[in-house]
Amino acid sequence: MTELENRKKGKVYLVGAGPGDPGLITVRGLELLGRAEVVVYDYLANRELLKHVPKVAKFVYVGKKGGVKHTHTQDEINQMLVEYALAGYLVVRLKGGDPFIFGRGGEEIEELVKAGISFEVVPGVTSATAAATYAGIPITHRGYTSSVAFITGHEDPTKDSTSIAWDKLATGIGTLVFYMGIKNLPTIAAKLMANGRPAQTPVAVVRWASTPEQETVIGTLATIADKVQLAQLKPPAIVIVGEVVSLRDTIDWYEKRPLFGKHIMVTRTREQASELVALLAGQGANCLERSTIALAPPESWQELDQALAELEKYQWLLFTSINAVSCFFNRLLVKGLDVRALKGVRIGVVGTATAEALRQYGLKADLLPEKFTGEGLAAALLEEGVNGQKILLPRAQVASEKLPEILAKAGALVVMAPVYRNVRPLGEEEQLRRELAAKKVDAITFTSSSTVTNFLEMLNPQNPTELNEILAGVVVAAIGPVTAKTAREAGLTVHIQPATHTIPALVDSIVAYFATS
Ligand code: SAH
Repeated sequence: MTELENRKKGKVYLVGAGPGDPGLITVRGLELLGRAEVVVYDYLANRELLKHVPKVAKFVYVGKKGGVKHTHTQDEINQMLVEYALAGYLVVRLKGGDPFIFGRGGEEIEELVKAGISFEVVPGVTSATAAATYAGIPITHRGYTSSVAFITGHEDPTKDSTSIAWDKLATGIGTLVFYMGIKNLPTIAAKLMANGRPAQTPVAVVRWASTPEQETVIGTLATIADKVQLAQLKPPAIVIVGEVVSLRDTIDWYEKRPLFGKHIMVTRTREQASELVALLAGQGANCLERSTIALAPPESWQELDQALAELEKYQWLLFTSINAVSCFFNRLLVKGLDVRALKGVRIGVVGTATAEALRQYGLKADLLPEKFTGEGLAAALLEEGVNGQKILLPRAQVASEKLPEILAKAGALVVMAPVYRNVRPLGEEEQLRRELAAKKVDAITFTSSSTVTNFLEMLNPQNPTELNEILAGVVVAAIGPVTAKTAREAGLTVHIQPATHTIPALVDSIVAYFATS
């Protein structure tokens, strides 16, 4: 076999990334991203999607912003795709929207064909339909229009040899959707009116459609150019012309979600932020995930290991955080034990999230307090009677002393075993400061005292005045009384604190706060 035959054959997949919302990529596209060895992506493809690409892959950004500043010319991109494929790689060429709609996908494929490279094309949700849908505009509607056209607005409408038949378009088609039409909007509107489209025809311009940054300007052919200029709307935007635009009054849904347009900073460990982020995003918020906590093993496992060796002596095992649950069970397995070692011990948890974490290990909590705090748990235990009982409390190396104090006072023998340490993630301070300095953050969430302390250490204000300046206008939300107290003591004003100490309750309180403010 010759070396050439031996070599794996490369292939290029031209994949539509969808318009912006990372949820709008196709299942096929997502699957290919997961297998990519090289991914070549541009400005309009949402970066979020790249997290599905294996970390060992090669990531190539080929830019392209508003057609002006190209990081790579189209020829270079074509060449690059050919070269990677010839070298035997599985290449995903990820393009915004649909690759074959004003995406130069056709040109890229022609080059691949010339070079004898195999390829596939995966369509994407194009920005025209996404912009219409996310602006609450059905792009066709039986009562309004039965035709729609996708048109490039990039072409100068005043040039003599236009390839666009303005006279036919203006009155021959119901809904007109222009890509790349912001710069030429005044001439586009003028041209349509001059060719017979009524001046009062409604027009919508939608920028960054299907993303938390979405902005929509509504007008008529006569007014839209001025309105867009006044709003200083910049590309990328889609222009929709036609009577269907008026349906937005009834159908607008995306921008009407309660937290739409709000930038909320979520400060938690990366692993834990997902529920909060999913719930906030579901209400329309743009979440900035800033991890303020990283988990590290405790300085010593001695206390826990000793307790694990004599578990039969314990009556209670208590968990006051999800991290404590996972770190405890990891160590249990490391020590060659499993859940059966816990058979004689009753388990108490601080709240529903810890109970759920426990269930992941096939265990049901014996005790769940009415109030989801350490004190709530203590009160519930006192009702059970703890005098003379041996209680194991695996927890963070630094943690509140309330719970063990109350239990000890009631005659219990509490053994506190550190199972993790909260440490500050390194290298993220600059980004945190930059985001707050940009004054784009509307609210910030704290879900434990450590998130507050680490956040402030990362921010490192020189004095209280500086702290107030940095956080001016930022609404502070704390999950429960302990977190809120830590925040207040550190000089923060706490605006939101839910009555129940859970993530869904926190999100509800944030929604309620912004509904009335
Ligand atoms: N292939 C892409 C279009 C690329 S041309 C697609 O199918 O959507 C670039 C133009 O697409 C931009 O100038 C803008 O008009 C439009 N566009 C792309 N993403 C957009 C978005 N999220 N919101 C509004 N317009 C967008």
